[in-house]
Amino acid sequence: VTDPEFRFDRLRGEWTLIVGDRQRRPNQPAGACPFCVGGLEAPQPYSVKAFPNRWPPLVPGEPVDAFTDAGARPSAADSHPDAFERALGRGAAEIVLYSPDHRASLGSLGVDAVREIVDVWAARTAELLARPEVASVLVFENRGAPVGATIEHPHGQIYAFPFVPPAQRREAAALASTPGGFAAVIEAEIEAAERIIFLGDGVVSWVPFASPDPYGVLIAPNVAAPDLPALDGSQRDALAAAIVDTVSRYDALFATPLPYLMWIHQAPTDTLRTGHEHVHLHFAPPWRAPQVARYYAAGEVGSGIPSNPIAPEAAAAALRAVNPEPAA
Ligand SMILES: [Zn+2]
Ligand SMILES: [Zn+2]
Repeated sequence: VTDPEFRFDRLRGEWTLIVGDRQRRPNQPAGACPFCVGGLEAPQPYSVKAFPNRWPPLVPGEPVDAFTDAGARPSAADSHPDAFERALGRGAAEIVLYSPDHRASLGSLGVDAVREIVDVWAARTAELLARPEVASVLVFENRGAPVGATIEHPHGQIYAFPFVPPAQRREAAALASTPGGFAAVIEAEIEAAERIIFLGDGVVSWVPFASPDPYGVLIAPNVAAPDLPALDGSQRDALAAAIVDTVSRYDALFATPLPYLMWIHQAPTDTLRTGHEHVHLHFAPPWRAPQVARYYAAGEVGSGIPSNPIAPEAAAAALRAVNPEPAA
């Protein structure tokens, strides 16, 4: 049995998380759903529930030196002299059950129930960020068998990292050199209007101008807030409404539950904030057409340049055209 560990990849100049032991996880839980009330992970009634992952790739504990030195935040090649540098997979991994209803989804639950999920995401973010070994919290969901979700019951996950992950660091750097930051990007999309899906009271969703993903959608408050805990009640209600709108449109788009990856980018712990953070959600479906997977091909992976087969304007028009009413 090996603990999860970070290994420093000298080609990427970034950490890789090695979680070989997780290969022994059961692909399908034996017997009843573990997330239904009375199941292994939910013995008591609940409405929304967060709990530690039974097979965590990141584990709580004391801070690890490798991540507290300046070299790891952000990583710099010359601060990693060891050929085989490794460090404990420190952090946290949690599961968030969205509903006791096995058949529910973020599209069908309704705004009040999704608001309750937003509140749990925010509370877990605040609690995890307060831990000394945690630098950054990623809320996310893999929905559907095509993206590897092994349990159908509606749920998401949370990873707490001991450093700011590269995707967030690169995004923060790009936005820092964007005049007006993310708020200006959002303002420009609202003004252009053709890619907007949902314009709520303080929250907007849209297909980004240069979306790397077919039918990719971003959701953000149009007034900057660094993270979920910073959102007030009305912003959380509006965020919940935008999430329900997005997923119900997704499910209507091809008349079947659309698989997707969803993740929330938010500010890291206080000492690592740049002041430009602006919380937002990414939705990235893996399909380019019904049941047709969009693979990242060698030309894309090898170049680092995604090629999106669906024009963002066409994706936005298709998503606006569907009936967003959630199925009863
Ligand atoms: Zn279930
Ligand atoms: Zn982002």
